[in-house]
Amino acid sequence: MPELPEVETIRLGLKEILPGKVFKDVIIYWPKSLNYSKEYIIKNLYKTKILGLKRRGKLLIIDLDNQYFLLIHLKMTGQIIYKDKNFRFGAGHPNDSFISKMPDKSTRVEIIFDDGSKLYFNDQRKFGWIKLLNIEEYKKFNFLNSLGLEPLESSFSFEVFKKRLNLRIKSSIKSVLLDQKIIAGLGNIYVDESLWMAKIHPKTIVKDIPLSKLKILHQSIISVLRFSIDQGGASDRNYLNIKGEKGSFTKFAQVYKRKGLLCSRCGHQIIKIKVAGRGSHLCPNCQKLKTNR
Ligand SMILES: [Zn+2]
Repeated sequence: MPELPEVETIRLGLKEILPGKVFKDVIIYWPKSLNYSKEYIIKNLYKTKILGLKRRGKLLIIDLDNQYFLLIHLKMTGQIIYKDKNFRFGAGHPNDSFISKMPDKSTRVEIIFDDGSKLYFNDQRKFGWIKLLNIEEYKKFNFLNSLGLEPLESSFSFEVFKKRLNLRIKSSIKSVLLDQKIIAGLGNIYVDESLWMAKIHPKTIVKDIPLSKLKILHQSIISVLRFSIDQGGASDRNYLNIKGEKGSFTKFAQVYKRKGLLCSRCGHQIIKIKVAGRGSHLCPNCQKLKTNR
């Protein structure tokens, strides 16, 4: 699943292309990828213009000029392809669809704009989704309303972060950071990296983390996300940016997918263990598990 930096990379790319586009038609190849029928979508979107693109956690939000919103969640294998006479841009799960004829067998939804350009939503494994919501539905949309802190916003202060973690004070820090209701947008890669930076073992219970380390963790989350966006997201999860270039964050990863390699800080071998049901990479020397007794 793409994490915050990958979705933000897609948003930054689409932001250059989609605003001003006027909706004309939709072809639905897999009805379950959308929350409404073709008739409903055309009735409400015909001649509607795209105003802009937002992101909340891992969710991409397209703002329309009639107070409707198109929400896109790429989940595991979602992919967005934009195509007009001269350009073709792909973002998301990379496979031959980036270069093959569109639509192809993974295409679930095709949106056609009045200038002839098209936006394809492809999704091999069909876990992704698009939802069209009017403003009332949007305001009441539970998935969106239950999302936690947005870690790259200025409101993500240390005090707010600490308060939020305290909601699950008896849980392991890894499971809390992965909880989208606590902080939105973090996944396995960025949690492992942030914990390494702050020298915290992923199994550490929140209440056992000293304040000084918690402060470093807060800063680490922000810096690792920003750095990854600057690098165009993580290639390892197979996400491409809007120009079809692979993100290069994983080249700079310190622990993620580096099992058996040496910690750049202390030279110990990086290990992989299971925490909160997820494969977790860490340096056993830098990130010691201190148990209370
Ligand atoms: Zn180390």
